[in-house]
Amino acid sequence: MRIGCGYDSHRFAPGRRLVLGGVEFPGETGLAGHSDADALVHAVIDAIFGAAAAGDIGSHFPDTDPKWKGADSIELLKAAVREVAAAGFRVANVDATVICERPKIRPRAGEMRERLAAAMNIPPSRVSVKGKTNEKMDDAGAGVGVVVHAVCLLEEME
Ligand code: MG
Repeated sequence: MRIGCGYDSHRFAPGRRLVLGGVEFPGETGLAGHSDADALVHAVIDAIFGAAAAGDIGSHFPDTDPKWKGADSIELLKAAVREVAAAGFRVANVDATVICERPKIRPRAGEMRERLAAAMNIPPSRVSVKGKTNEKMDDAGAGVGVVVHAVCLLEEME
């Protein structure tokens, strides 16, 4: 077993769509970023690479590479899972906490778990997504952006 932690944060930016965990939130302000700025998927990817001691999201999918401009982060997650599979690992489970004042995460958490699980070839019962406000404290609490923490357990395949 190998454990990894991941973290990501993105600022809100007008004129962009909001995508978290591969799920779109119509009518909500989106996040700034080179890709689709899906901070939840990015934190999960970093947890996976971290568990495999395989670098980080920036070393695998550099934001200076035009190839990843506007990229669907779910596709990056699939690529990350393929990469650690090639190194002999599969994802056992993922747990993530999304910190923001808006949008409300819980009503869409089931969809996010399904999208993430499908991208990682595991059942949704192995994926947890929790939403928290920051009780109006600090930048996430002031509505400046979204912060995500994630952990991932990898198991070695025989
Ligand atoms: Mg990111």
